[in-house]
Amino acid sequence: MGLFGKKPLFCAVCKKELKHKYKPSEEWNMEGYLCSDCHIEKTKEFAMKSQSTDRCAVCKADLGDIAVKPRWQWEMEAGTLLCQPCFNKKDAEYNKKLNFCAVCGTKIGFVRYNPKPAWKIQGQMCRKCWDVRNAQK
Ligand SMILES: [Zn+2]
Ligand SMILES: [Zn+2]
Ligand SMILES: [Zn+2]
Repeated sequence: MGLFGKKPLFCAVCKKELKHKYKPSEEWNMEGYLCSDCHIEKTKEFAMKSQSTDRCAVCKADLGDIAVKPRWQWEMEAGTLLCQPCFNKKDAEYNKKLNFCAVCGTKIGFVRYNPKPAWKIQGQMCRKCWDVRNAQK
């Protein structure tokens, strides 16, 4: 007894005896220690993995399990995810866009007009602008 700390340690990955032991990062969920090579490999691996985990498309925050899908109306790329604050911001922006004419910026009430797809106008329009635009050829 008492020699516990002197027992040879082996790398948890490649099983090589360790001269210098490296503690795995807590995020790796590993037991034991690593040799420097495996530690470097794992670090790389994990960095790549965490890059592919969901990040907010706007602020790049790590989303974890709080990812929110953007509304389809926002026409964001498929697979885009947002964090809650960015979602709220977008939502507010979108609602603002909805409430104002995309052309002249006038506040539109309940009566609003959707631009024709060919016009390539984002948002909605007031009656006046819609008529003007519609009259153009
Ligand atoms: Zn190793
Ligand atoms: Zn965000
Ligand atoms: Zn208008």
